[in-house]
Amino acid sequence: MAQIDIKNVRKEFGTFTAVQSSSFTIEDGEFFMLLGPSGCGKTTTLRMMAGLELPTSGEIYIDGEEVGMKPASERDIAFVFQMFALYPHMKVGQNMAYPLRSQGMSKADTNKRVLEVARILGIENILGMSVGGLSGGDRQRVALGRAIVREPKAFLMDEPLGALDAEFREHMSEELRALHDRMGATTVYVTHDQLEAMQMGDKIVVMNHGVVEQFGKPQDIYNWPATKFVAQFIGSPPMNFLDFKGKVAAGDKSIKLNDIEIEIPVLKTGAEGEISLGVRPEHIHFSDKSNYKGRVVATEYLGTNQLVTLETANGTIKARTESTKLIKTGETIGLAFDARTLSIFEGESGLALP
Ligand code: ATP
Repeated sequence: MAQIDIKNVRKEFGTFTAVQSSSFTIEDGEFFMLLGPSGCGKTTTLRMMAGLELPTSGEIYIDGEEVGMKPASERDIAFVFQMFALYPHMKVGQNMAYPLRSQGMSKADTNKRVLEVARILGIENILGMSVGGLSGGDRQRVALGRAIVREPKAFLMDEPLGALDAEFREHMSEELRALHDRMGATTVYVTHDQLEAMQMGDKIVVMNHGVVEQFGKPQDIYNWPATKFVAQFIGSPPMNFLDFKGKVAAGDKSIKLNDIEIEIPVLKTGAEGEISLGVRPEHIHFSDKSNYKGRVVATEYLGTNQLVTLETANGTIKARTESTKLIKTGETIGLAFDARTLSIFEGESGLALP
């Protein structure tokens, strides 16, 4: 088990900066997600933790020991790649035993450990089979087994389920999370899939263009996005932005949106100029009493919910409501927002106002 501290870590490739100075802590036993769009620097960050890439500056600590310049072999962490490569000429048990045997562990101890791990993964009955005949799921389990037999301090996984189809992927992600909960080993997991990150992670780092935009628990990131980028990247459909030009001061209880008073959470800081009011689709309510109107331009029936697209004076937004009363295209509806759930962003920087 291990705590991993990333302190001001930066990575340049020639003149290109892949990771800007980044700092965050992965607590012992956490399932930790590195999330962001393609090219944001998440794989590079993971590779620096593994020792497969050296940081240009900054420090990486594993259990308090600075390992930034140490080779991968001296870090006692297991790197699980996207493609689970197994030795095709070896049986399942031999594949799993290989990392232990090559470390010099005795045959008896190796067999004991392999059986223990096979039981955790539910594959003890296929240990004698050749890997060629295995189903996709069993191949993944064997590959995971091979990664965990060594009992490393931490697991680093780079989109391990990336090559799987959606249904199987969901099944394996549940299994992986359950496996983590049984073993409790620190796991760092790279993904570009926000839903996967929200479902699996104890904590998430959201990266964009080499910058850590936010770091925290999934529910805090969802409810209190630190930037417009995070607000749009997390959630499906994403957070809506009602844009306006104006001023909001510290302590204000409301703002004027198209001349209509809208209650807001009280802020510690103000802003002036381009401002965006952020509201999640499920926090928009339809109310005859509200003077802030939207015209329905599209609806989507989703069973218990409906997704309603509305045009407002401050931009197009999507609302998710119960489908007890179906909304029709062309209707004009009063819109109400729950003040406590609103986020306010400064337009230019995209930063949420605290
Ligand atoms: P993806 O999901 O596409 O792998 P990522 O978020 O994991 O994206 P990285 O693989 O960390 O992103 O890459 C970040 C940036 O650094 C990319 O623009 C990439 O082209 C660049 N990069 C990565 N490795 C190298 C390298 N060895 N030399 C030069 N540039 C690199």
